[in-house]
Parts: sequence; C-alpha cells; structure tokens
Amino acid sequence: MAKKRKKTREEKKNAKYWKDRAIAMEEDKEKAAEALSERTRKAYIRSFKRLNRDIDALFAEILDKGIEDMRATDLYNLNRYVALRKKIAEEVEGLAIEDDKRLTKLLDDIAVGTYEANCKEMGIDFTILSEQQAKAIASENWTGVRFSDRIWGNANDFNARVMSDIEELILGGKGPDQLKKKLIEDYSIKFHEADRLIRTEASHAFNSAALQSYVDAGLAEVDYLAEADCCELCEPYRKKRFPIDDVPVIPVHPNCRCTYLPVVPGFITEEYEPFGS
Ligand SMILES: [Zn+2]
Repeated sequence: MAKKRKKTREEKKNAKYWKDRAIAMEEDKEKAAEALSERTRKAYIRSFKRLNRDIDALFAEILDKGIEDMRATDLYNLNRYVALRKKIAEEVEGLAIEDDKRLTKLLDDIAVGTYEANCKEMGIDFTILSEQQAKAIASENWTGVRFSDRIWGNANDFNARVMSDIEELILGGKGPDQLKKKLIEDYSIKFHEADRLIRTEASHAFNSAALQSYVDAGLAEVDYLAEADCCELCEPYRKKRFPIDDVPVIPVHPNCRCTYLPVVPGFITEEYEPFGS
C-alpha cells in the first residue's frame, strides 16, 4: 500500500490558513499597542506624582506667608506658583516628546514587520525600498491630522486645562487634596486620548501595510473581517468582498478591530459576498 504523501507547506495554505494568520497578526498588533498604552499610563502616573510634590511645596509657601483670602495678584507673586506652572509646562512637553517618539517607533515596527512578514509569506522581495515604503505608510496623514500633530495638540490642550483648573481651585480657596484630585482627572482624560490614538494609529499602520503587501502580491480582492458583534459603522462591511483598489480604510472608527483578509486565488471561501450585492 502506498504511503500517503505528506502535504507540502504551500498545499496547507487554504483559506482558513490565511484567515487564521491575519487574525493572529492583528492580535499581535493589538498586544503591542496595549503594551505601549500601559507604558504611557505609567509615565503619566509618574508625572502626576512629580507634580504632587510641587503642589505640596506651593501650599507650604501659602501657609508660611499666612495668606488667607487668596487673590490672583497674590497667587502670581508666589515663587512656588511660578515654579509649579513652569513644572507643568515641562512635564507636558516631556510627555509629548516621549509619546511622539514611542508611537513613531511602534508604528514603524508594526508597518515594517507586517509588510516584511507578508512579503516573505507571499514570495515577494523585501528590500530597503520596501522598508521605506512601510515607514511611509506608518507616518501617513490619513485622518487629516498627523498623529504627531495630534499628540502636540492634545498636549497644549492638557497644559491649558491643568493651568486653568489649578488656578481656579486655588482662588476658590481649595486645598492640595482637591487640586490633586482634579489633576488625576485631567491626567485620566489625557491618558484616554493617548490610548485611543495609539490603538487607532496601530490599526492603520497594520492594515495599510498588510493591504500594500496584498497589492504587491497582485491580489485582486480582499475580504473584510469584522467581529460578529462589531459596531454599526463596520456592520455594512462585515463578510463583504472588495476589489483591492476600492476598500474601506481600516480603522473605520477609533478603536476599530477590523482587518483585511487576502483573497488568495485557489483558496477562496464562499462566506464573503461582493460589497453592494
Ligand atoms: Zn471596525
């Protein structure tokens, strides 16, 4: 009896193979985004703690000078208030520089990694030019505002919000605990903005790099993979097939977890139907 021939690697690549692979890569991207988000959260907590020390120092000076009914002119003359404002501005700038640097690195890593892995998988040469192309995808201005500009815009907003909150609370006769409580709220808003930006840009870098590799591989179509419980914005695209040059840009919305599936000739599933049909 003839021994059953073992299937080659290429033969094992059925539609399920491509789908599982895309899902696994999407999850890796999400884990990398999650890790950066966590690192960012810790950096913000450290920054908050540093500012707490300056708030304590300010209230020590207020106590020392015996100021009871604080007016704006009194406040502006306090050395520790001037120092606190300077410190806030420095913290905001320092965090923005770090946020920008780390997100740039994450997006480069995701885009280059995804593009390179897909090129290898599909037998396309990955050259220095390919790497440059992937990095261009990572830094693409696809929302109308570059991620870097958004980081600095958010930083300026945060700076203005913290400055005005602190001034308002002190002039309203509030103590250090209330200031710190408000500061936590401000940092929390800042963190949620950063977290959303990281996840949204990571999705774009990942999906656009993957799409480019499918274009380079000469594929004509992609399927749109959305979770069964996806939001109403993505629902119309779920289980639909698109011509490769006319696909919805993923992410469709902030925190979107959708992804493209390559439609590899010979391994086409029946579960996707043409969009608009
Ligand atoms: Zn989605």
